[in-house]
Amino acid sequence: MIARVTLEIALRRDFDYSIPEEWADRVEVGSRVKVPFGARQVLGVVTALVSDSTHTNLKPISRVVGEPGLVTPEVLGLARWMAEYYCCPIELALKSVLPESVRREKDGWRERLLVRILPAVGELPPLTKRQEMIWRIIEEWREIPLQELVRVGETTAETIRKLEDKGLVSITAERMERDPYANEVVVASEPLTLNPRQAEALKAITDALDLRTVPVDSGAPVMAPSTFSGAFLLHGVTGSGKTEVYLQALAHALERGMGGIVLVPEISLTPQTVERFKARFSSGKLRTLVAVLHSHLSAGERHDEWHKIRTGRARIVIGARSAIFAPVSPLGLIIVDEEHEGSYKQEETPRYHARDVAVVRAQRERAIVVLGSATPSLESYHNARRGKYRLIELPDRVTDTHLPLVRILDLREAGKTGKGGTPAVFAPRLREAITQRLERKEQTILFLNRRGFSSSLLCEKCGYVAGCPNCSVSLTYHRAAQRLLCHICAYEEPAPTRCPQPSCGNPAVRYGGLGTERVEATLKRLYPQASIQRMDSDTLKNKDDYRRVLTDFRTGKIDILVGTQMIAKGLHFPNVTLVGIVHADLSLHLPDFRAGERTFQLLTQVSGRAGRGDVEGEVFVQTFTPFHPAIQYARRHDFLGFYEQEIEFREQLLYPPFARIALLTLKGRNEDKVRFTTEHLRKELDRWFASWRELIIAGPAPAPLARAEGYFRYQIMIRTKAMSRLSLELAKHQEELSLPEDISMIIDIDPASLS
Ligand code: ADP
Ligand code: ZN
Repeated sequence: MIARVTLEIALRRDFDYSIPEEWADRVEVGSRVKVPFGARQVLGVVTALVSDSTHTNLKPISRVVGEPGLVTPEVLGLARWMAEYYCCPIELALKSVLPESVRREKDGWRERLLVRILPAVGELPPLTKRQEMIWRIIEEWREIPLQELVRVGETTAETIRKLEDKGLVSITAERMERDPYANEVVVASEPLTLNPRQAEALKAITDALDLRTVPVDSGAPVMAPSTFSGAFLLHGVTGSGKTEVYLQALAHALERGMGGIVLVPEISLTPQTVERFKARFSSGKLRTLVAVLHSHLSAGERHDEWHKIRTGRARIVIGARSAIFAPVSPLGLIIVDEEHEGSYKQEETPRYHARDVAVVRAQRERAIVVLGSATPSLESYHNARRGKYRLIELPDRVTDTHLPLVRILDLREAGKTGKGGTPAVFAPRLREAITQRLERKEQTILFLNRRGFSSSLLCEKCGYVAGCPNCSVSLTYHRAAQRLLCHICAYEEPAPTRCPQPSCGNPAVRYGGLGTERVEATLKRLYPQASIQRMDSDTLKNKDDYRRVLTDFRTGKIDILVGTQMIAKGLHFPNVTLVGIVHADLSLHLPDFRAGERTFQLLTQVSGRAGRGDVEGEVFVQTFTPFHPAIQYARRHDFLGFYEQEIEFREQLLYPPFARIALLTLKGRNEDKVRFTTEHLRKELDRWFASWRELIIAGPAPAPLARAEGYFRYQIMIRTKAMSRLSLELAKHQEELSLPEDISMIIDIDPASLS
């Protein structure tokens, strides 16, 4: 047998190696191996076993790394698809399907020393008083971690080693698992009795799962993967009981001997969410470990979680984006919650979209995929409309609480009440509402998607605006730190007290635009007696802060919570009866065709935080563009209305879902050179694809973020209905394209944002 190996160093092809006798039974597709390459030893993964090679004199594999078959054949196939579709080298795709710590086995198993009693033979050898005392403890415990023994016996490892020398005990290294949730007590939960809508949704999913389990040799017709579409779109308002449906569907998969993956946006992967899944599967006959994968785990924790999955002890996985590659086998069900979330898209190579990978993975492994959202993406809803996905709807909240009443406050009106012509932070009606909640001891959430105090510093005398020297954005003023900060590259400088232009020096610089810090400051001034907490990446430095704030809010220690999108998702607080969106226009005027969609989603999500308890909720949306459709449809909780008008606009302009986009971004330090190179690329594209009528190529144009971290950025956008073909062609031509050394190109297939 010959092993075909993809190497981790960037080479877009496989190499053949012979398999030495000693490794023969450990090499399989997916094994990680060390192989000689030139003078070096490099890591690679076996992608195929073949009997012939066109090469002679094959070098042998040096050794197999880690346990056999780290990459399951299913996940390997998925990585290959990803490399092709997202136009990236296979070795990078392979890297992203295995956590670094698993790939290298560097932060591998943590070991602890265990002291164990040995069967006594004959008389006890002579012992000192100390040794005898320790011996008694061991005798009682039979086995005890060395560390623990040192502690309880108030002794040293040396003394214990002496007992080992005398043949009384053994000291051995044992594997120990790190558990990021070790200190939490999980209270088991029972399935709830579903309401009729939920029951219907569950039945659709479990019926599909049952079809999936038809054994291949049962005589029933076996469906080809392409005819086996299990994808469901679960469109349900927040609080409609989607999560309960997920839990029961997962239970069904477990009953049928299959595991499941639950994808949640990183930001919604709160302890609250994780606990809900752990609680359901912590006892009973379907008991299984629930593995958690997210970016805040240590390398060691990630390693251990991964192995829990690989060995089948954890059959449910909940995690952010990369959990889609979890080695669950057999895989029955994939759930993608909040499927519309932009954060499912990875913003570095491989630039995959976890939802789309989920759909592909489900199809390849004949699993069922459920995409859930209160505000589905236009792409997914369109797929449901044309029958590619099955649509399940949960239009009502589980409890009889109504969706909150949403009122629009026109900031152009409110502006008149502000001091010195600047718009007030809160319109009078929002102020009244906040006051009322404080009086009634109910809670308020105020949302603004921009941190800092103000978004710009400008001099009204000479027109100076403080900008970042590396990026084409203005600097944000952070008052607590007294600094100006770039939110793109983190450049910072002290905040000036007068205009820094040497020729000007005007002492009256103006801070324009709102940030959460200013909202907080204003609240503290207006309501000195209230307990106010800001929650954004400036105030939360670690996950314990996050947990603490949420606990304080839940227990009523906080009256008003101010925050960025961190507070928009997944939180469930019954005593919140008021939500204020301080400035709804922020995301509306981004130069991106999804700006309206993003705004609609965000407003709906944030509004959903209100009135989840007994008292009806109220939402105020402050805006300068009260009649914008995204705002009007969000006010009426009218997803369908929004979809109908937005889809028409997409169709007219041939934007997704009517075409797919490949965005080519070139960047370099010399602007002329970047522009020139991009123009050259455009000519090449025209030449390569001269006969491809259906392709729409636009650009070059400066990227919306024209300069970032000192690099100038130019873009070309290609739109097509045949993206798989375009990806292949781009990969092929990319090899013959020689870019200047100081210019780099990023190919982004299905970009989530056009910045
Ligand atoms: P979603 O995921 O759609 O936001 P959840 O599943 O979180 O909705 O449900 C919202 C609330 O309603 C939760 O507190 C949940 O425990 C409760 N709930 C869900 N389904 C039922 C049910 N069938 N009976 C009673 N309570 C339910
Ligand atoms: Zn910058």
